Amino acid sequence: MPNQVSQLLHHLRCFGHEVEHFADTTTFFNAVLNRRPDAIIMDVQFPQGNTAGTETLTSLNKLIGERLPSIVLSAHADFYSRLSAVRAGCDGYFTKPVKPLDLMLAVDDLTTPPEEEPLRVLVVDDEPEVAAYHALLLEEAGMVVQQVNHPADALDALERFSPDLLLVDVYMPVCSGEELANIIRQQPEYVGLPIIYLSGETDSRKQLSAMTAGVEAFITKPVEPEALVSAVKLRAERLRLLRSLMTCDSMTGLYNHSTTTDLIGKTLSQAYRDRTQHAMAMIDIDHFKAVNDTHGHLAGDQVIITLARLLKTRLRVSDIIGRYGGEEFVVLLKGISDERASELIDALRSDFEQVEFHAGGERFRCTFSAGISSFPTHLSTESLRLSADQALYRAKHQGRNQVVVSKEQDNDGFTTTP
Ligand code: GH3
Ligand code: MG
Ligand code: MG
Repeated sequence: MPNQVSQLLHHLRCFGHEVEHFADTTTFFNAVLNRRPDAIIMDVQFPQGNTAGTETLTSLNKLIGERLPSIVLSAHADFYSRLSAVRAGCDGYFTKPVKPLDLMLAVDDLTTPPEEEPLRVLVVDDEPEVAAYHALLLEEAGMVVQQVNHPADALDALERFSPDLLLVDVYMPVCSGEELANIIRQQPEYVGLPIIYLSGETDSRKQLSAMTAGVEAFITKPVEPEALVSAVKLRAERLRLLRSLMTCDSMTGLYNHSTTTDLIGKTLSQAYRDRTQHAMAMIDIDHFKAVNDTHGHLAGDQVIITLARLLKTRLRVSDIIGRYGGEEFVVLLKGISDERASELIDALRSDFEQVEFHAGGERFRCTFSAGISSFPTHLSTESLRLSADQALYRAKHQGRNQVVVSKEQDNDGFTTTP
């Protein structure tokens, strides 16, 4: 197998893809007939100045009666070769030599559906039929809705359901929508929660007064279904965006420092009650200053983004993965021992060191070191972090590109409180 192909295979496997390589059409067709792949990457030879070359893909798609997501690798960058690929329904076109990382990103885009959690809306209306009707309209638009018919139940529902938006009836027997909005707004965690009023009120001055109580929008009953759905969508999505800007690092999409610390703190208090074990890994890229100095800051950014992606695709969704500082990451691996965590992180380390980066015609590789500590050996976020940091320091001193597990015990487990 040519070296370039094995490099591509390594990169794709490294980022969690299951890859098979075929050198001839017959075995390739049989394999696809047996089991549909999520994407096909095909090396194609295009006859010069001619729109042929992608017949294999076209006949495969005909044979199975569907168009499979595909990326073409070609030695030619000319118009007719590209036209041939577009006509065959290809999703991507790369000219050789292909940078494995770019291809990996394209494959990721083709194979991972955009993860969109449905928007969550809490409807507070004293009339159950009206609430049910509005809930139905929003559910038909793909949202998850919970109804509350008594304003006194709203706070409890807010906490349990944690909606992206609140839809409140203005006139209710116990308290007005405005009063309810004020009660909610007085709690810091709900200051940013969008609230939309629903009422039969068309007087614009009264609407204005409601808006000053911190309400985002005013919709008059009977509602126009489309107007309701779009008003809710617009505001709930904006809140989600603001929330993610506040909690995530913009370069990598991982949790930022303060969110990581918060989430780990919450997990540990729960773990103390459930008596579960967790492991923390502090990860730091080796000689990163030299990467920036030799290959430039943009190349350095590529390395950070790649390591972030590797962590995200290979660790579990429930694990907490944060960018702690420049080229430093912290991970809370839930429900596993430090030994198991060390094996997992070491597997990532060994895959990462084989990833090839490209900058200005040059190729280079990078490594990272990691330190691991565990809960309940260490009970607080701070103590976990400190001992993971000491282990990381040892990893650096012992020559880098390795994972070290913290040895010291600072207490005897669950007998003391955090
Ligand atoms: P060690 O192996 O001991 O960790 O050496 P190092 O060079 O990685 O350590 P050091 O902490 O001295 O260098 C980290 C460098 O990371 C310094 C800083 O310029 C760079 N850095 C921090 N944030 C970013 C970033 O977002 N992008 C890039 N390209 N570089 C960054
Ligand atoms: Mg470093
Ligand atoms: Mg550092």
